[in-house]
Amino acid sequence: MNIRPKILIVDDKPENLVALEVVLRDLDVELVKATSGNAALSATLHHDFALALLDIQMPEMDGYELASILRDEEKTSHLPFIFISAVYTDNLNVFKGYEKGAFSFITKPFQPEMLINKVKFFVEKHQQEIELKTLNESLVSANKELEQFAYVASHDLQEPLRTISNFVGLLNTKYSKDIDSNVEQYLSFIVDATTRMQNLIKDLLILSRIGRDEPSTTIDCNKILEEVIADISVALKESNAKITYSQLPLLPGTEIEFKQLFQNLISNAIKFCKKDVSPEVTINVKETDQEYLFSIADNGIGIEEQYKSHIFIIFKRLHGMNEYAGTGIGLATCKKIVSLHNGRIWVESKVGKGSTFYFTLPK
Ligand code: ADP
Repeated sequence: MNIRPKILIVDDKPENLVALEVVLRDLDVELVKATSGNAALSATLHHDFALALLDIQMPEMDGYELASILRDEEKTSHLPFIFISAVYTDNLNVFKGYEKGAFSFITKPFQPEMLINKVKFFVEKHQQEIELKTLNESLVSANKELEQFAYVASHDLQEPLRTISNFVGLLNTKYSKDIDSNVEQYLSFIVDATTRMQNLIKDLLILSRIGRDEPSTTIDCNKILEEVIADISVALKESNAKITYSQLPLLPGTEIEFKQLFQNLISNAIKFCKKDVSPEVTINVKETDQEYLFSIADNGIGIEEQYKSHIFIIFKRLHGMNEYAGTGIGLATCKKIVSLHNGRIWVESKVGKGSTFYFTLPK
């Protein structure tokens, strides 16, 4: 349905309103007339206007006064005006600080074409703003739906998977004597696939939970790092990894998400190591006026230049499962966490030398 944009025209002289109507009659707009400031204010309660044409010289409330009242009302705070006046006045200080381009002047007598063009400009601008707003709202809602779907789907998929692994476990223990080597191999394939699927679902759940109702508090990044190191202590020991880090700051954010961010980046720094070289991970932070710049550097396999941005996309992996295990969700999760905290994340790397992941977080 095409809703015609509404224009408010205000003039204390009815004959001037009729004259405006005649000039604007070919435009696809609806005109709402008011012969006083008060009548105009009451019209704004019942209509949403794209533009207001205001006569400046009116008794009781002049065009400027009316415009500043409209500007202070939430509903009409963004309403653009065209002031129409017999004399050009520079009484513009009322509009100091007002959005540039949101008002214009026309002095009488005016060329009809000039008024028509100005009105067209504001109406088109208004329609573009509405389109953008609608598009934005539908994007936000589609995104929310998608996140909700991912959350519910990954949550519900866990149950049948648990059943499969329980029964494979039962077959292995109860019927071990009757199972030949072929069946044993098939069962181990099922167990591997189930484990991979469980990891995928776990990571998808983590990703879909990011940004959900977690309260923002002051986070001590040193404490977070200590917890992460304790959580991955087995992997650290097995790979003989060394982690060095400087004093980290306290920051506003969500604890679970910061932990996830550090954990993903440090785990990757250890996982993507060179054969027969113990991983060395260095965590640093630099402070600027507005933000902290964190870096997590490793001495691992590195990343080719052309894949540096790809790896932040969900499921993008540069290696087969047999080389390095993983789900391809970790860095997408990091990106979402950093973006939600109004930061940026990127990587610098040299193949065969190592990678440094950088991320910023505002203070
Ligand atoms: P996963 O680690 O589960 O594969 P991620 O989303 O964490 O998924 O990472 C995506 C890909 O980016 C990895 O598969 C790997 O190819 C590459 N990558 C991530 N971190 C590093 C790193 N520190 N060194 C080299 N490559 C990395």
